[in-house]
Amino acid sequence: IGVYTDPQHNLWIDDAVPSVSDIQSGATPAEGEVVVEIRCTGICGSDVHFWHAGRIGPMVVEDKHVLGHESAGEIIAVHPSVTHLKPGDRVAIEPGIPCHTCAPCLRGRYNGCERVLFRSTPPIPGLLRRYIAHPALWCHKLPPSLSFEDGALLEPLSVALAAVERANLRLGDAALICGAGPIGLATLLCARAAGAYPLVITDLDAGRLAFAESLLSSSSSSSSSSSSSSSSGGPARVRTLLVAPEETKEALAARIVDAMGGRTEPDVALECTGAETSIGAAIEAVRFGGTVFVVGVGKSEMEFPFMRMSTREVDVRFQYRYANTWPRAIRLVEAGVLGDVGKLVTHRFPIEEAVSAFETSADPKNGAIKVMITN
Ligand code: NAD
Ligand code: ZN
Repeated sequence: IGVYTDPQHNLWIDDAVPSVSDIQSGATPAEGEVVVEIRCTGICGSDVHFWHAGRIGPMVVEDKHVLGHESAGEIIAVHPSVTHLKPGDRVAIEPGIPCHTCAPCLRGRYNGCERVLFRSTPPIPGLLRRYIAHPALWCHKLPPSLSFEDGALLEPLSVALAAVERANLRLGDAALICGAGPIGLATLLCARAAGAYPLVITDLDAGRLAFAESLLSSSSSSSSSSSSSSSSGGPARVRTLLVAPEETKEALAARIVDAMGGRTEPDVALECTGAETSIGAAIEAVRFGGTVFVVGVGKSEMEFPFMRMSTREVDVRFQYRYANTWPRAIRLVEAGVLGDVGKLVTHRFPIEEAVSAFETSADPKNGAIKVMITN
């Protein structure tokens, strides 16, 4: 895909100002739109996947394509119809533009929009560019204490918030988080803030679990109690659990219950790997009537342990993107409720070095969690 293999990297930098209605034309924002000068964009696993494989399932890159859907920037122009934003405002961009007329949209669940234009999903160009015209409705004003980087992090945080909310995770619930990638870690911060205890996070990669420990340590400036060990000298609030690749799901489920203190089965598992074995272990581990909430995306067909789910009334539910999360995420980050979310950012590159940013994000030995590209 041309944009990422161009040796000059020039195709990353698109100074044109496209409108949503006609991506190729229009130097001024269309009705309802603002023009944002993008300042910071996070790389998502799906961006790396499109870069490497050129497709995710039925979504195929067929021409030059601009990736990126985790962005924040500054407004430089507004259409006269826009009254709640003005040039100079700093905003986080919600990347999906729903139609507002289909059945899921009218039910308020616009993440299910049948005609959504989701930036970076081909053929809709993404946000790794200098300027973008975007509906003002889907630009969320940042309070002064949030950086552009924080603004970009609101997208993965939105996935985590949607999961914690729709999984009905409640104060004192025993929670399992499977996978310590950016989404699992963001979910960990949200689950901790929601009052989950005990809280266990798994991964196959010891480095990612070590990162989870450092994310939770109290060296941050945040006012919330962000230590992985209890300040009262009690048991650790969050435990990490290294998964062995050949382990059976039953054996792993037993170790999960052990990690929860020996007697507690998880009320809720927030599955953030999409791996069949991980989903199976979560189903084995949760209590009678527990919930396995699957955020991870994996193979198009999988085997689940049917009899276990049936005889234990395990609810298995799923998340697709998010709806109505940005205002909530902004409030939580502003108040420090989630801890130091900025620690998720491990690497930064200027847009001219965007190819290095992708290479860094793609290679596990770099230990990258969230790589940011700045303009
Ligand atoms: P990631 O690949 O960076 O992280 C996944 C982590 O899971 C890795 O650290 C990996 O080592 C670990 N892992 C893999 N197999 C495991 C296993 N069997 N047991 C324990 N850990 C295991 O990905 P990410 O960016 O953190 O995203 C996580 C998942 O969420 C991906 O599947 C992604 O596609 C999905 N996702 C879904 C949505 C949605 O809307 N539902 C949105 C964003 C991402
Ligand atoms: Zn719609």
